[in-house]
Amino acid sequence: MNSANAPLVIVGAGHAGGRAALTLRAEGYSGRLILIGDESHPPYERPPLSKGLLQGTVDLAGYSLCDSTRLAELEIEHLAGNPVKSLDPQQHRLQLADGSWLTYARLLLATGGRSRRLSSVPEHLGNVLYLRTHDEALALRASLRPGARLVIIGGGFIGLEVAATARALGCSVTLLEAGPRLAGRVLPEQLSSVLLELHRSQGVDVRLNVVIEAVQGNACVEAVQLVDGQLLPCDLVVVGIGMQPNIELAAAAGIEVRQGIRVDAQLRTSAPDIFAAGDVCEFQLHPQGDFQRQETWRNAETQGHHAALNLLGGEQPFEVIPGFWSDQYDWGLQIVGVISNAEPTAIRTTQGGGFLLFYLDAQQRLQGACGWGQGNSVAKDIKLCERLIAPHNSVSVDALADAGVPLKQLLRS
Ligand code: FAD
Ligand code: NAP
Repeated sequence: MNSANAPLVIVGAGHAGGRAALTLRAEGYSGRLILIGDESHPPYERPPLSKGLLQGTVDLAGYSLCDSTRLAELEIEHLAGNPVKSLDPQQHRLQLADGSWLTYARLLLATGGRSRRLSSVPEHLGNVLYLRTHDEALALRASLRPGARLVIIGGGFIGLEVAATARALGCSVTLLEAGPRLAGRVLPEQLSSVLLELHRSQGVDVRLNVVIEAVQGNACVEAVQLVDGQLLPCDLVVVGIGMQPNIELAAAAGIEVRQGIRVDAQLRTSAPDIFAAGDVCEFQLHPQGDFQRQETWRNAETQGHHAALNLLGGEQPFEVIPGFWSDQYDWGLQIVGVISNAEPTAIRTTQGGGFLLFYLDAQQRLQGACGWGQGNSVAKDIKLCERLIAPHNSVSVDALADAGVPLKQLLRS
C-alpha cells in the first residue's frame, strides 16, 4: 500500500491517544483511523483510579473518554489487546503482537508509562499491588477491606492518594518513603510538611528515610522488614515508586529517545511522519528550556489534542501552561505553571487553613503557583494565577502575600 493513502494510526489507547483520535474526527478527518492499545478498555482517564474508583463513587463509564459504541459511531478502529511490537519508520509500517503488519500515513506514539517495579519484591506474590490501570485499580479496591493492614511503599502521589482512600475505607496504613520528605522531588517543603501532618492526623503511620531490607512471606507477603530491624506485619503491599515511560518501541526503531521520546515544538519525533504525546514524550516548555517529561492529566489532554492537529498538517508549536492537582481526604492541592521544590517568593494564607505559594522570576513575573485548601477551595485562585502567568507582567510580591488584596485586582493592574 502507498503510505500516502494509508490510515492515520495511534499507538497507545490511553488518555493522550484517545484524545488525539477524538480530535481527529472532531476536526473533520474522515479517512481510516486506527487506535491500537494493549488494555482491553476504550481510552479512559487515570486520576479516578487512586481516588473515586477505590472509594466506589465512580466507575469506568464515569472516566472513559468514550465507550466502544461511540468509537464505532466515529469509525475509530480500536485494536485492543494487540499491542505494537515493532516499528519500521522507513517503510511507514508497524507490526502487531499477532504478527500482522499495518502501513500508516502518519503515526502518533502515545504509549504512556508503566509502574516502576521494586526489585526487592518478588513479582509472583499475590498481595503486592501496583496501580496504573483500571484493572489494577479494581484488584486494589477488592483488597481494601476494613481492618486490612496495608503497607504502602513510596510517598509520592500514588502512595498518598491510596493512603487517604484506604484510611477512609477503614484500613490501617503504614507508608514508607525513601526520601526525607513526601513527594519531595515535585513539591516544595511547605506542601510536604502539610501532607505529612495531614496523613499522620488521619492515622497513617508515615515513615521517612526508610530503606527496605526484604519482604517476608511465601505465596504472599506477610511482613516488610526494614534495614533498621523493624518488622511490619501486613496483609497487603501497594508499591508506588514512580513511572517508567514506555520508550522501548521507539528506541528499537532508531527514534531519538532520552528520558522520553524526544519531540520538537510541533511534537514531531526524529522519524518522518511520527509524532509523540503524553507521559512518554520529552519536550521543551520554552524554546530555550530543558527537555522534560510531564506526567499529568493536563499534559496528556493538551498534547493529545495538539498532536492530532499536527497529524493533519498543522504547524503550530505546542504551548501550554502546565498544571496538576491531587485530592487527599477533604483537602486539595493544585499547581499551575513552573514551580520548584525550593522556597517560594511569596506566601499568602487563605481561609480555612490553606495557603498559596507563588514563584516569581528575577523580573518579578509570576512563573508558577501552588494552592492548598479544603475541598476545591483553591481552584478559583489557581485559575487567576494562571491568568497572571500568561501576560508575563511583573507583579508585586507584597500584594501577592497580602490576603487582603484580591488576585483579580492584580490582573487589572
Ligand atoms: P497512559 O494513560 O499511560 O496511556 C498509554 C497507553 O498506551 C496505555 O494504555 C498503555 O498500555 C498503552 N501502550 C503502551 N505501549 C503500547 C504498545 N506497544 N502498543 C499498544 N499500546 C501500548 N495526573 C494529574 O494531573 N492529576 C491526578 O490526579 C492524577 N492522578 C493519577 C492517578 C493514577 C492512579 C495514575 C496512574 C495517574 C494519575 N495522573 C494524574 C497522571 C495521568 O493520569 C497521566 O499523566 C496520563 O494518564 C498520561 O496519559 P498517556 O496517554 O500519556 O499515558
Ligand atoms: P512518584 O510521584 O514519582 O512518587 C514516587 C515516590 O516513591 C517518591 O517519593 C520516591 O522518593 C519514592 N520512592 C522511590 N523508590 C522508593 C523505595 N525503594 N522505597 C520507598 N520510597 C521510594 O510516583 P507514583 O506516586 O508511583 O506515581 C506514578 C505516576 O502516577 C506518576 O506519573 C504520577 O505523576 C502519577 N500520579 C499522579 C497523581 C497526581 O498528579 N495527583 C496521582 C497519582 C499518580 P524519591 O523521589 O526520593 O525517589
